[in-house]
Amino acid sequence: MKFENLPKVELHCHLDGCLRVDTVLDIIEKEKIAVDSKEYEEMKKILVVPDDCPSLDEYLKRFDLPVKLMQSRENLKRIAYELIEDVSKENVKYIEIRFAPLFHKEKGMKVPEIIESVIDGLKEGERDFGVKSNLILSLLRHMPVDSVYEVIEGGREFIGKGVVALDLAGGEVEGFAKAFEEPFKLGRKYGYRVTIHAGETGFSRNVKDAIELLGAERIGHAVAIEKDKEVYELVRKKNVTLEMCPKSNVQTKAVKEYEIHPIKKFLDDNLNVNLSTDNRTVSNITLTEECNKIDEIHSLSKEDFKKIYLNSVEGAFCDRDTKEWLLKEIL
Ligand SMILES: [Zn+2]
Repeated sequence: MKFENLPKVELHCHLDGCLRVDTVLDIIEKEKIAVDSKEYEEMKKILVVPDDCPSLDEYLKRFDLPVKLMQSRENLKRIAYELIEDVSKENVKYIEIRFAPLFHKEKGMKVPEIIESVIDGLKEGERDFGVKSNLILSLLRHMPVDSVYEVIEGGREFIGKGVVALDLAGGEVEGFAKAFEEPFKLGRKYGYRVTIHAGETGFSRNVKDAIELLGAERIGHAVAIEKDKEVYELVRKKNVTLEMCPKSNVQTKAVKEYEIHPIKKFLDDNLNVNLSTDNRTVSNITLTEECNKIDEIHSLSKEDFKKIYLNSVEGAFCDRDTKEWLLKEIL
């Protein structure tokens, strides 16, 4: 199967994991940022995890430099715009991009300004490349719970105007959801939709909590539910969309190897599987490459591909018109 030109919908993609190496080098040059090396290949090593990435910690280190460079309106806009251009090359029609506004305050920007800068880049990208998009605001579960209100309040004016949802990201510990019940209740009241990173590092009960305590309609990763019958059935019953990112899971050691990744099993079992990249630069991956890899290991038929596309449209947080437009693309 040739997947490159087929229409695609991506639901789980972190802005700070998708910077172009050339752009990083350019910003470093312009802003005179001190780095060990300005060589392209050396910079690539700082931004991309090695194939034999030893741990999640090693994976997370790849975000340090990108975040440092994403501290101005201009850079945020540029990086968002370039991501839209990049995904347009493999015929992504619609993408939901997530990022954590609290990471971008180092030079004094306020949350609304940070969000607006990214939306500006996305809108300009849509004008130039025809890719529609929305933003998901990631809250950070390793920060004090109270810190999330700044994002929930600061993003409120953009709901339906470029922002669609809240996410909870960062290292996963067992039972994290309980502490965030109140802020997510408020967020849902304001009109945010909800997706949560859960069940990535072995805690299937976190998926149940995310759905029942936080109102998650989608779950990022969720690989741990494979071995938990009760949670598996809950996901099915509630029609929860699973944003699955196999290469990232293998790199962070959430799944030992590609061969045993449950994505094809979930798909064959008619769970609402979406396929995403997580981080295009850090994981050195495109959606086309993910399709090829699954095809190589499990075989991915045109029907499977179509199923993923339809699941993705159904699970997307965009408006009805956008969904209808997306449905026409696959028929
Ligand atoms: Zn993620």
